Amino acid sequence: MSEKFQHKKSLGQNFLNSDYVPKKMCDAADLQAGEVVLEIGPGTGALTKEILKRGGVVIAVEADERAISSLKGAFPEEIARNQLTIHHQDARKLDLANLGLKNQEFKVVSNIPYYLSGLLFRTILDNDIQPNTLVFLIQKEVAERIAREEKESLLSLSIKAFGEPTYICTVKRGHFTPPPKIDSAIVSINNINRDNFSSVSTKQFFDLLHLGFGQKRKQLLGNLAKDFDKDCLLKQFEANDIDIKTRAEDVNLQQWLRLSTSIVNNC
Ligand code: SAM
Repeated sequence: MSEKFQHKKSLGQNFLNSDYVPKKMCDAADLQAGEVVLEIGPGTGALTKEILKRGGVVIAVEADERAISSLKGAFPEEIARNQLTIHHQDARKLDLANLGLKNQEFKVVSNIPYYLSGLLFRTILDNDIQPNTLVFLIQKEVAERIAREEKESLLSLSIKAFGEPTYICTVKRGHFTPPPKIDSAIVSINNINRDNFSSVSTKQFFDLLHLGFGQKRKQLLGNLAKDFDKDCLLKQFEANDIDIKTRAEDVNLQQWLRLSTSIVNNC
């Protein structure tokens, strides 16, 4: 199907060309029959087909009308029995409640365009309506930064604050038509919840995180001192057993949560 399709580079249209990767993604999501799946960017349906085959109930959001026509031609029965619902929509304006999704009662399984990965992690995980599991096929380098690297980043911490990331496997560029310039990887986020935000709000936490990562070369203390009293910060570093010379990338999630709670309460 994808051979006949004129792929739009601007929409990141690199379509999966076998059922090997869709199977891996559905396995990673531990997809069971009857479960609701949000699929962003179904394209011509390579992944959709596998999710439907396993009995998933798919809510699809796709920006390209030509892909939607193709999906309608490929899955008429699934659409008729409401196993597949397609929304012609820009995923940057995703409204999970409007799609009929309920908190913790769905999974996200998607091969998303590279340009949307940061935004989609943020809008889906930091949401009152959260999935219980998320499986994305994304740039290999980004997946490594999230789930493999020892050093933390704004992205890795923003994800770990809500769930547990795992690097599932590398997906070579030959699995796509047309092949992208770089390899990809499947990453899963499990145990998604908001439990870390009882003593500090997400806004307070992320404001501090952004401030802390403000100037990469600077130590964390120096970055935070842009907005907070240095003496007060020193006390909070000491109380939380964090070396004052530490850089933001060397502070793990639990330390960040403790430190931000003390700064918010005391400085
Ligand atoms: N899921 C298909 C597959 O695996 O073969 C296609 C994946 S392709 C990497 C990304 C898909 O996202 C394309 O179908 C593209 O049209 C769609 N897309 C790109 N930008 C979008 C946006 N802002 N909102 C919704 N869909 C978008």
